[in-house]
Amino acid sequence: MSAASSGSGAGPDFRDARSSELFGRASKVIPGGVNSPVRAFGSVGGAPRFIAEASGCTLTDVDGNEYVDLVCSWGPMILGHAHPAIVEAVQKAATTGMSFGAPTEGEIALAEEIVSRVAPVEQVRLVNSGTEATMSAVRLARGFTGRSKVVKFSGCYHGHVDALLADAGSGLATFGLPTSPGVTGAQAEDTIVLPYNDIEAVRAAFAANPGEIACVITEAAAGNMGAVAPLPGFNEGLRAITAEHGALLIMDEVMTGFRVSRSGWFGRDGVAGDLYTFGKVMSGGLPAAAFGGRADVMSRLAPSGPVYQAGTLSGNPVAVAAGLASLRAADDAVYAALERNARTLGALLGDALAAEGVPHRVQFAGNLVSVFFSADPVTNYAEAKAADTGRFPDFFHALLSRGVYAPPSAFEAWFVSSALDDDAFSKIADAAPHAAKAAAAAQN
Ligand SMILES: *Cc1c(COP(=O)(O)O)cnc(C)c1O
Repeated sequence: MSAASSGSGAGPDFRDARSSELFGRASKVIPGGVNSPVRAFGSVGGAPRFIAEASGCTLTDVDGNEYVDLVCSWGPMILGHAHPAIVEAVQKAATTGMSFGAPTEGEIALAEEIVSRVAPVEQVRLVNSGTEATMSAVRLARGFTGRSKVVKFSGCYHGHVDALLADAGSGLATFGLPTSPGVTGAQAEDTIVLPYNDIEAVRAAFAANPGEIACVITEAAAGNMGAVAPLPGFNEGLRAITAEHGALLIMDEVMTGFRVSRSGWFGRDGVAGDLYTFGKVMSGGLPAAAFGGRADVMSRLAPSGPVYQAGTLSGNPVAVAAGLASLRAADDAVYAALERNARTLGALLGDALAAEGVPHRVQFAGNLVSVFFSADPVTNYAEAKAADTGRFPDFFHALLSRGVYAPPSAFEAWFVSSALDDDAFSKIADAAPHAAKAAAAAQN
């Protein structure tokens, strides 16, 4: 029985028979029926919608329902789906060979594009996922400094790297997991987990572990506990403290990179990390990611240095073509549209919730948007978890059944594309009051 069909404000024309059937079939051969946990709708109930196709800002599921997409593949699709320039680039690349295991010119062009956009990045290495990027960046930081310990922040998600799963956001937050079985004590014991936005805690950790901390890894602006921007001075403080102690600062921009400005969060606060991780937008929707930074650090990587890192499909020509086409199409007008669309979305949701008297905060981190059912601003993971997340499932399903596809978790940011148009916003405007009523009526 799905929550949508059980009547909590479902829209009139909503169908999910085919998705439910596919979910049943998938669950037999794929753990939980999905290949990444949050997709399963576990915290909102109901069968996940199986997507048949997408174009622009519209997703169409296998039952023929159409949705305004506010997930955008969890970030990558800033231009909307099936963008002609990306489709053309992928088709062209595919017809000339899928993978060679040898260097190609496109890899240089993508690296040059990244380097030209993010000033502190002098060299990049292409990989296949954000997880691989953060895992490699942490290894490099340890290899470069000769130290073991890593500082991360509660509620920040850096992929499913063993050492970085402690108190992570995203899917672990959605499913209420503090960490994961299978991560050994040895892998976790070198990880120091601190509250986000608490610079005094960082200072204290460095004082308590002199000469032992290799790096601080942070989301340049947190998006995996919902959108929680760094407080003024936080990133600057991380920069100063790590520099003072000879540790590296890893800015994880897998979510924010090339989304919240043409230069990512760096383009907004100008705080330079030593290393950066990228993924999502730079992939154009195919599996591609990267890490990069200071040349003196990056040159410690094999084959120019001793820190090993490799990948059979790294720099894959089709993925590189998609990423490059995506970044080249993401011009100033696109970034202006993303900014505008985020504000419009936030206002529609906020106004609807205010009209129903639901305590809430609409928060932004650049053009990442979040709705917290909280009367107070959310600045860290403890505050995000203290919000009234019990209102979220009904809020979510009231939107979904009216053709608005929001992230199926109270702890995930909402992602806009530049393809959102007037029709999309009128659909959101029509659905929002119903969703606000459902949130108001939700019993926890
Ligand atoms: C998505 C994400 C990752 C992991 O990327 P994958 O491609 O899913 O492995 C890492 N860091 C941040 C900040 C992310 O948002």
